[in-house]
Amino acid sequence: MTQQIKLSKCVDINPENRALFCIQKKCVNCGMCLNRCKQSSAVCGFYDNNETKFKHQICIGCGQCIMVCPTGAIVEKRHWVKTIKETIDPNKKVVFITAPATRVSFGDAFGLLPGENVESKLVGACRIMGGDFVFDTATGADFTVMEEASELIERLMHNGPLPMFTSCCPAWVRFAETFYPHYIDHLSTCKSPIAMLATLIKTYFAQREGIDPKNIVVVSVTPCTAKKCEQDREETWAAGEGIKDVDYTITVRELAEWVQASNVTWEQIPDSDYDSILPKGTGAGLIFGNTGGVTEATLRTAYYLLNGVDAPTDFFKLEPLRGLTEVKQAEIDLKVKTINVAVVQGTAIARNFLEHLKNNPDQHIDFIEVMACPGGCIAGGGQPKFPAPRMQAVKQARINNLYKADDASERRASYKSPVVADVYKTFLDKPLGEKSHHYLHTPHFIDRSEELGALNVDELNQKALQMVQ
Ligand code: SF4
Ligand code: SF4
Ligand code: SF4
Repeated sequence: MTQQIKLSKCVDINPENRALFCIQKKCVNCGMCLNRCKQSSAVCGFYDNNETKFKHQICIGCGQCIMVCPTGAIVEKRHWVKTIKETIDPNKKVVFITAPATRVSFGDAFGLLPGENVESKLVGACRIMGGDFVFDTATGADFTVMEEASELIERLMHNGPLPMFTSCCPAWVRFAETFYPHYIDHLSTCKSPIAMLATLIKTYFAQREGIDPKNIVVVSVTPCTAKKCEQDREETWAAGEGIKDVDYTITVRELAEWVQASNVTWEQIPDSDYDSILPKGTGAGLIFGNTGGVTEATLRTAYYLLNGVDAPTDFFKLEPLRGLTEVKQAEIDLKVKTINVAVVQGTAIARNFLEHLKNNPDQHIDFIEVMACPGGCIAGGGQPKFPAPRMQAVKQARINNLYKADDASERRASYKSPVVADVYKTFLDKPLGEKSHHYLHTPHFIDRSEELGALNVDELNQKALQMVQ
């Protein structure tokens, strides 16, 4: 077994880490990953790694270190791609699902104009890599919206706890569970769009098609490395005893490598549409890929649920919540009630914001979206990489093209989706109902502050704050 040497300027990744690993012979000890982890994620650099429970630094799996490593020494755990075909029993049905942000980045890996929307090629690639069915994770996001908007209203009307934090970013959830466990009750219990869709595939879809859920393999294509950890959260599996929601999580970068390693050129990838049994998501589902998108999508539906009519036109372009500003805040008039919302990108910024709230208890906020990656999933740790000077323009192009796709969508609010209506009518009953809770919600979060060993979490948060200021 190869001995792991601790390189002084490299992030100290536990070999048990499910999201990523370091190929030490490729590392030139340049320190860029460590700097990124400190400044953007605020997860390391303010404690002695040897004092933690596992004698390694804490990691939330965000993959931001991967994005800056100049030698490719840090990579996602990617053995699944090599073995996926051999592992899957040919008698099983393979279902690929593709996240909103992957359609505006897949082409980047093939040298197309950054951010171009190549949805039909992405679906085509999933088919040639073995997908019997391909579904849109934006459809899963529509279910997340239905549940999350209902949960927000429930909390607004019945004494909280508020603020309610979004929970669709597994790196943020892990960050909160480790450094801010007292906020666990504030995390939305809604599972992520990927987990919701995968559960529905192994229940609603399986029943409809007469397939044993044990014979369905879900391969999730994501912009995200932390989703590799999320798929192993057993407490969220709901399709049946020992049945995972998601079987394989591959980043969009891995999908591109897989296609290229199979000697398939861009031109050879066929254009294809999602399967119609669970059709494409609404525009609201698509903008989940952008920072601020989850909030905007949720508010469109919250307004409708509270008032029984469509939200005003400005809810379909909530300018104060769009763009790459680190913290965005707005007062939103939901007619029945006016609420304060905030959108935060990057866990370092989230840390600052949480400490600010702690020190200003009079500042009331009802809803807070946190995405661990600056920019949201369009800049996730599993996305095709670009040199730092180009990254801002690439992010903006991906953001613009997701909003463009929303603008062009036939339906721009999740409650308008026919598949959402059908699944609630024939299977789930209603948002926050008994079945919805069972299949679409996280039963409990985990206080992980014990991973910090003997270190005091409040003192650590103060030290972290000083480091990033
Ligand atoms: S994945 Fe995120 S938290 Fe983990 S080492 Fe890399 S930057 Fe740090
Ligand atoms: S960025 Fe890459 S090369 Fe530099 S220290 Fe980190 S792993 Fe090593
Ligand atoms: S922001 Fe998106 S890509 Fe980044 S860790 Fe969270 S879910 Fe994954």
